[in-house]
Amino acid sequence: MHVLILGSGVIGTTVAYYLAQAGHEVTVIDRQPAPALETSYANAGEVSPGYSAPWAGPGVPLKAIKWLLMQHSPLVIKPMLDPAMWRWGLSMLCNCTQARYEINKGRMVRLAEYSRDCLKQLRADTGIRYDERALGTLQLFRTQKQFEGSAKDIRILEAYRVPHQLLDRDGCIEYEPALAAVRHKFVGGLRLPGDETGDCFKFTQALARLAEAAGVRFRFGIAITDIGHDASGVTAVHTDAGLVHADRYVVALGSYSPQLMRPLGIRLPVYPVKGFSITLSIGDAAGAPESTVMDETFKVAVTRLGERIRVGGTAQLSGYDLALDDRRRDTLEHVVTDLFPQGGSVKGAEFWTGLRPMTPDGTPILGATPIARLLLATGHGTLGWTMAAGTGRVMADLIGGRRPEIDMEGLGVARYA
Ligand SMILES: Cc1cc2nc3c(=O)[nH]c(=O)nc-3n(C[C@H](O)[C@H](O)[C@H](O)COP(=O)(O)OP(=O)(O)OC[C@H]3O[C@@H](n4cnc5c(N)ncnc54)[C@H](O)[C@@H]3O)c2cc1C
Repeated sequence: MHVLILGSGVIGTTVAYYLAQAGHEVTVIDRQPAPALETSYANAGEVSPGYSAPWAGPGVPLKAIKWLLMQHSPLVIKPMLDPAMWRWGLSMLCNCTQARYEINKGRMVRLAEYSRDCLKQLRADTGIRYDERALGTLQLFRTQKQFEGSAKDIRILEAYRVPHQLLDRDGCIEYEPALAAVRHKFVGGLRLPGDETGDCFKFTQALARLAEAAGVRFRFGIAITDIGHDASGVTAVHTDAGLVHADRYVVALGSYSPQLMRPLGIRLPVYPVKGFSITLSIGDAAGAPESTVMDETFKVAVTRLGERIRVGGTAQLSGYDLALDDRRRDTLEHVVTDLFPQGGSVKGAEFWTGLRPMTPDGTPILGATPIARLLLATGHGTLGWTMAAGTGRVMADLIGGRRPEIDMEGLGVARYA
């Protein structure tokens, strides 16, 4: 079967790889000159099934008001006359109940845990390297209130049987020795030993090379303009380089997926949630993080990626604008210099922004659509890197007519009907 993948971010590329492994003929189209040059380029690097949870949860609306008033706020909203933004925001609010949170979290954990296992298998099968580390992640609490508040999260982790350790100051320093220099700045942390880290861009580029060696054809520098269809289903994909035909079409266009779906009568509740990162070279290795340290106060993740430190965070609602804002850079610099003052200099750091393709319930949208031959692999929001390998695997299973190894309940677009 010939499968056309629309988009070569981490999701499209991973789907292509697994499809090629299953023996399909695969073509990938992307407007960029290479894979992973948009949202998959410089994310925070966490492969974190342990933190797989929707942003919409009980108490979040109140917290959001508090965050909006902070100097280094994790949340920025630029109100716009964009109906999609307001619809998405309202739908997110509706997901802030305990009952919805549990349903959404359950779906996300199911995919994320499976994805981490697929990634391990993929590493074993291919020897792929991407500055990966399997040293867990540490959520750092600056206040006693945060430390005590973690009891709620721990109950959830226990319910989902996610291994975890609640650590005092010394416990945190045992896993992240560089924090000894700033021990007065935090009270403890919650460690998830099953989480991993790695460079999503390096992974996607390396996987694309493996996919290419397995026969996948990548066509770069081509903009997709439309999906042609009639009563029988999709007929072709329209691009600025002409029509492309296939037997199946997979939309993996990240935040840009809804635009192409709307003319087909499918309203995807995927909205861009802008985030920022800086990447700096490590100065003194002993002053750098070992893995990911997630600063709970500012919701900023500081991750070791080989000889570099990646600092990522902020959720900004401002449509598709990709402007770099120095105030967001200040927040990232503040966190890394505050916790890892010897880690490296922020002066020459690479500043980047990307648009998380977020659904209001936090769960991605995978699988068939009401249009024949058209499938979706989008809406991975804050956790696309975490969920990529599992997504690739289940999409290849669905397209190949095999039953995926995880239950697909609640992962498809039908849940919004
Ligand atoms: C600051 C930040 C930190 C993050 N941290 C983490 C983390 O620690 N862990 C984690 O798991 N996730 C994290 N994420 C989320 C993760 O990066 C995303 O979920 C993931 O990259 C989405 O991948 P994607 O392939 O769906 O989208 P993309 O990477 O955006 O890929 C979509 C592709 O489609 C192409 N495209 C779009 N429109 C067209 C068109 N019309 N024609 C042709 N091509 C088109 C684009 O060029 C692009 O290559 C973070 C995100 C941000 C912004």
